[in-house]
Amino acid sequence: MKKIELHLHLDGSLDIDYAKELTGRNVYDQMVSSRDGSLAQYLEKFYLPDELMTDYNVIVEFSYRLAKQLEKEDVIYAEIRFCPTSHNKKISVDRVITGIREGLAKVPTVKTNLIFCMRRNYTFDENLEIIKLAKKYLGNGCCAIDLVGDEASYQTKYFEELFEIARDWGIPFTIHAGEVGSYESVLEAIKFGAKRIGHGIRSIDDMNTINELKKHKVFLEVCPDSNLDTKAVYSIGDHPIRGLVDLGVNVTISTDNRTVSNTSLDNEYNLLKKYLGFTDEDILNFNLNAIEAAFISETEKQELRDRLLDK
Ligand SMILES: [Zn+2]
Repeated sequence: MKKIELHLHLDGSLDIDYAKELTGRNVYDQMVSSRDGSLAQYLEKFYLPDELMTDYNVIVEFSYRLAKQLEKEDVIYAEIRFCPTSHNKKISVDRVITGIREGLAKVPTVKTNLIFCMRRNYTFDENLEIIKLAKKYLGNGCCAIDLVGDEASYQTKYFEELFEIARDWGIPFTIHAGEVGSYESVLEAIKFGAKRIGHGIRSIDDMNTINELKKHKVFLEVCPDSNLDTKAVYSIGDHPIRGLVDLGVNVTISTDNRTVSNTSLDNEYNLLKKYLGFTDEDILNFNLNAIEAAFISETEKQELRDRLLDK
């Protein structure tokens, strides 16, 4: 089955074999989360990727290998996200972005776009730089911005001014919200004008949030397996996605971090079918939702629908 993936972090989806080649040692435990570890241990899995993703050719190769992995899974469109200013210790930010695009473009069967992530622990100016980069590359590799990081320590409401700027400049955005933080974070994100929410699963705790999501046609990017790793959800059978879909919220399915969570879209779909009663028809609908929610033109969306439905 052809697939669409909207919520995919590059640094959490690096090829382990290539990382092993670069470091000359077994890096599995450094890159893959163990389900019984703490959230702090989960976050440690991003340290090595940050160290490795500093050289141009390495960035090209990791991006190429991710695209190959997507192609193998029959993904026809993916939006891949990363923080451009996390990998520019040795090369310029422009080279980082060019390297990722070059690697991804080597696999033309997978159409891709980039989402630039702002970080909750960054200063206003550091995040503004990311919006400026998004403006520069919008329609030329970049399709949107995002906000990532600790929701509890850096609440969504403090980022209003940055998203106002993004709105003024016509840059679409998704925001990580209501993942481990509360539904209030989701409400703030909707108020800012987010068209999509990263995770958003805590919306299940508040009927008003559910209604706002539906009223504003905001799509959730749900990543079930990742939620188990971060302890946002303790058991797949208790995952809020079942209730969210039953209440009519528009849901899309992604992996979040393919390597860190040792997952794939096939694995995510299997979990949904095995433990939550979703059917192949539901999975198809999640993919159609993903096309609808993608940060691309209507013409591009129609092309993807035709490919998904094999027209
Ligand atoms: Zn994420």
